[in-house]
Amino acid sequence: MEKPKLIVDGKRLDGRGFEELRPIKIEVGVLKRADGSCYLEMGKNKIIAAVYGPREVHPRHLQDPSKAVIRYRYNMAPFSVEERKKPGPDRRSVEISKVSREALEPVIMKELFPRSGIDVFVEVLQADAGTRTACLNAASVALIDAGVMMKGIVTAVAVAKVDGQIVLDPMKEEDFYGEADMPVAFLIRNDQIESIALLQMDGRMTVEEVKKGIELAKKGAMEIYRMQREAVMKKYVKEEE
Ligand code: ADP
Repeated sequence: MEKPKLIVDGKRLDGRGFEELRPIKIEVGVLKRADGSCYLEMGKNKIIAAVYGPREVHPRHLQDPSKAVIRYRYNMAPFSVEERKKPGPDRRSVEISKVSREALEPVIMKELFPRSGIDVFVEVLQADAGTRTACLNAASVALIDAGVMMKGIVTAVAVAKVDGQIVLDPMKEEDFYGEADMPVAFLIRNDQIESIALLQMDGRMTVEEVKKGIELAKKGAMEIYRMQREAVMKKYVKEEE
């Protein structure tokens, strides 16, 4: 299919400005059996995150006597995309699981839970680009909900280059037809961005554009962070009343 125009009269196909996020909805504690859980929508992405643990690790040889073992499984439901996706892990989901686990690991106070495991499952129910970042946002909230001690929170968002412009939080058409896509995750501590926990890119951007993209991602991540915090507060403040 021929590439459509992605920016018309300074607006994106869904009417957003360049620096605007898609609508976000975050609900905490949606699964009864999980220790922590979160349902998150970011535009048309719909994600469920479930955290189990800290709990005993099976098989036992995977235990670490000095700290907790973190496992992260990203999975896309067969019905989450237009053409049915073959169920089960594939190279893409294995890679996303690995980089997402590595993004989260430094914030989790693993030394507090020797020999135990913390399992993070994220399920993409509906996908529309930016699922790895939406999943990380949901996973962070689910970890907090599980009461896992953390040094901060991981908040993620992608930026893209479309029709020559750097834009925040690309949706499917922008991801598909755009010139570049760059998911970024930040470690946020004491309400401030401390470091980058994940940075990937496909396509091509100039060094200046990458810098601009990171700055834009920082702004977007701070907005998401405030929503994550608000969602957690909403659950726990309500429970205390
Ligand atoms: P992310 O979802 O983190 O942006 P990708 O850039 O790999 O990851 O994927 C972009 C989008 O492409 C996904 O959000 C999804 O909408 C779509 N997609 C990914 N994998 C598949 C697949 N196997 N079948 C159909 N669509 C897919």
